[in-house]
Amino acid sequence: MEEEKIYIIGHKNPDTDSICSAISYAYLKNKEENTKKYIPARSGKINPETHFIFKYFDFTVLPHLIEDATGKKVILVDHTEPKQRPENMDKGEIVEVIDHHNINFQQAKPIFFHVEPIGSTSTIITKMYFDKNIEIPKKIAGLLISAIVSDTVIFKSPITTEEDRKIAEKLMPLAGIDNMDSFGIEMFKAKSNWGKKTADEIINTDYKEYELAGKNIGIAQIETVDASELEKRKQEFLEVMKKMKTSRNLDLIIVLLTDIIKEGCLAFLVGDEIETVEKAFNNEIKDNQMYLPGVLSRKKQVVPVLEDLF
Ligand code: MG
Ligand code: MG
Ligand code: MG
Repeated sequence: MEEEKIYIIGHKNPDTDSICSAISYAYLKNKEENTKKYIPARSGKINPETHFIFKYFDFTVLPHLIEDATGKKVILVDHTEPKQRPENMDKGEIVEVIDHHNINFQQAKPIFFHVEPIGSTSTIITKMYFDKNIEIPKKIAGLLISAIVSDTVIFKSPITTEEDRKIAEKLMPLAGIDNMDSFGIEMFKAKSNWGKKTADEIINTDYKEYELAGKNIGIAQIETVDASELEKRKQEFLEVMKKMKTSRNLDLIIVLLTDIIKEGCLAFLVGDEIETVEKAFNNEIKDNQMYLPGVLSRKKQVVPVLEDLF
């Protein structure tokens, strides 16, 4: 009899953490249970940053693409939010969750559910390797450290904890990285290469939808080493945002141009209750735009503000 497969999958529009935590958790589970039934999966195309990392660590096997979760057993990593799960997840079965985001999850059947307020899902998974005494191969160590550096924006984001730093330091020799800052800048540069992409493509590289207190909100985050490059293309962004607001039935859509060097976000906004949003951030929105100094984290500095507001 063929062994039943369990797919490990991150959120839609997968980022580096979603891809790398799926791969590394599948490796850990297969080792631990001496099986091959855990399959790393993904809910979409991998982004340019993840491409860079795969090349850097000479990793060639892409996670299995899942466009429909009907009838599938799945472990969710790096998200719980229903809108970010694979299509038809309600017609499959979630058997486990590992995450570090806001929790939006309800299920009658008890499962292993591990969420920590920490910098990345990959930090949690690395801790599991250490706890279970499972050796981390060089390539896996490379994926894990990349995801930590990416999610914490080279440890600058307020989501970063002391544990993220310590765990990343332990991964450095295993991954063969001797300077995390220069590695991080190289990685962020690789993904800041937006020149040939349309505004629509750029937005969808890291776009997430939320249901916050009954409102449908879409938030894209574009991390870049120079936000002024993209600021010039504001009209193009606003046009796409207006279309998305209608077609995706949103109350509010925000595009965060996150400048990781200047450490702040330039936000473009299109929505119905702009004054309320201004109040929430205690900031003025002019011509669909506001600047949020010190803001690097969508999850910690933007989503909670909007959730309190509505
Ligand atoms: Mg993620
Ligand atoms: Mg993450
Ligand atoms: Mg990110």
